[in-house]
Amino acid sequence: MASGPEVELLEITIDEALRRTVEQHPERTGVVSRHQNLRLTWREMEERVEQVARGLAGLGLEPGHRVGIWSTNNLEWLLLQLGCARAGVVLVNVNPAYRSHELGYVLEKSRMRALFLRERDHRTDYRAVLDAVPTKVRGVYFDHESWDAFLKGGMSYSSRRVDRNDVTNIQYTSGTTGSPKGVLLTHRNILNNAWLIARQMRITAEDVLCMPVPLYHCFGCVMSSLLCVATGAALVMPAPSFDPLATLQAVSEERATALYGVPSMFIAELQHPRFGEFDLSSLRTGIMAGAPCPIEVMRRVVADMHCHQMTIAYGQTESSPVITMSDVGDDLELRVTTVGRAMPATEVKIVEPKTGQTLPVGELGELCTRGYLVMKGYDGNPEATADAIDAEGWLHTGDLAVMHANGAFGIRGRSRDMIIRGGENIYPREIEEFLFTHPAVAEVAVFGLPDAKFGEIVLAWVRLKPEAEATSEQIRSWCHDRIAYFKIPAEIRIVGEFPMTVTGKLQKFRMREEEIRLRGVHEVETA
Ligand code: AMP
Repeated sequence: MASGPEVELLEITIDEALRRTVEQHPERTGVVSRHQNLRLTWREMEERVEQVARGLAGLGLEPGHRVGIWSTNNLEWLLLQLGCARAGVVLVNVNPAYRSHELGYVLEKSRMRALFLRERDHRTDYRAVLDAVPTKVRGVYFDHESWDAFLKGGMSYSSRRVDRNDVTNIQYTSGTTGSPKGVLLTHRNILNNAWLIARQMRITAEDVLCMPVPLYHCFGCVMSSLLCVATGAALVMPAPSFDPLATLQAVSEERATALYGVPSMFIAELQHPRFGEFDLSSLRTGIMAGAPCPIEVMRRVVADMHCHQMTIAYGQTESSPVITMSDVGDDLELRVTTVGRAMPATEVKIVEPKTGQTLPVGELGELCTRGYLVMKGYDGNPEATADAIDAEGWLHTGDLAVMHANGAFGIRGRSRDMIIRGGENIYPREIEEFLFTHPAVAEVAVFGLPDAKFGEIVLAWVRLKPEAEATSEQIRSWCHDRIAYFKIPAEIRIVGEFPMTVTGKLQKFRMREEEIRLRGVHEVETA
């Protein structure tokens, strides 16, 4: 068992943190949205946040009510996050890659009263997808007069005190049981996590953070936006969604001191043909997280991107998210071979997955964590909550890890069978349940395969109903517009039968071996 250093946590709400930053750094740059050509100081941010908080009241929303945001990165996303926190309204993050099937599910489960979105972008006609979903919700469109009307229709919001232990955000994450689950996070959970991450990287109001990661995920809305709110550092958004060239341009033109990304983003930046053109010498630190970092990538980020204080973080949505992190002072060896030590005010232990017994240093088991960072629970799902958080308050992450003698942790895999494709977590069961809804499909197995570009890719084996006809391409194109692109299997193999155990359980490991044999893919080594 390990505990990070003791610290006094922030016992304030997100809005109190914002007001403090505005008071201390009113004229410093708060947010730069490069694709919108917008630059706002913290004082200007606060004025707009106030307008949004009033707008929410104007829609009749009261503390505890929920609103959703289904959008790629933009200024409005941040204004809603902070406006909701001010008015006590709970923000529900919806992955912008979601399509009708997933959107309908989240709308129904979250009971949101309004959804903020754009009408369309180059990827999708969001209004058309929303209109096709059976659950009706009021849509407010950023690129439409409904946003101006929302701002103009503001009223004073409830004076009921927002408490730091109130839920402020629901982040959807796919559970092992199939469909996505809403993770309930309080002000205290996520503000403290952001603040401790900042402390670990020595971030101050002097820093400029370049954020190419999505705001709907905790990497964006906690580790980036709340980190800036808590410290007064400037937040730079290079593009609506990840774009390696826009990221390199943003770092160099804004003189960013910190850069974030999942490993595949750093790989795309380093491999960009124009990489050599950019002056990245302002960079000092940053975070690579979400998936194991290949050692060579870390070495190049330190050497060629000048991030000599680059860190690795590990965690999950349910833990606000960061549980362990390397320190800017750690030597390179520790940073490339581990995910760092327990964060301050955070307990971590490794247990035998079946018995729950705490294991000694060096033994492989499930990583568990306890402290301020543990979510309040899964929304409307006490059973899943009880599965994840035990009676003593330990969150069971489902990740297999070892603790080293120096207190650092190594992640070795997942005790549940999640696939991570380019940093996106994918749960086979969810895709299986979805593919079953195709009229020709009788049986299906979804599993991951090692891949040099994405880390892992999604594959499916499908058996058709006796009289049914469908090609693998037809089933794949049927998936488009129904589920997010990253969940659509890279290949669907139509098979006559599946490898099974004698008790009739599908043997995915044998399907995986067969695919590897057919394709000649080598297992990817993970740190
Ligand atoms: P999410 O809830 O989307 O943040 O995904 C959390 C999962 O991503 C964890 O449970 C891990 O399996 C994986 N993960 C996160 N950070 C790392 C890391 N630094 N190294 C390896 N796996 C990671």
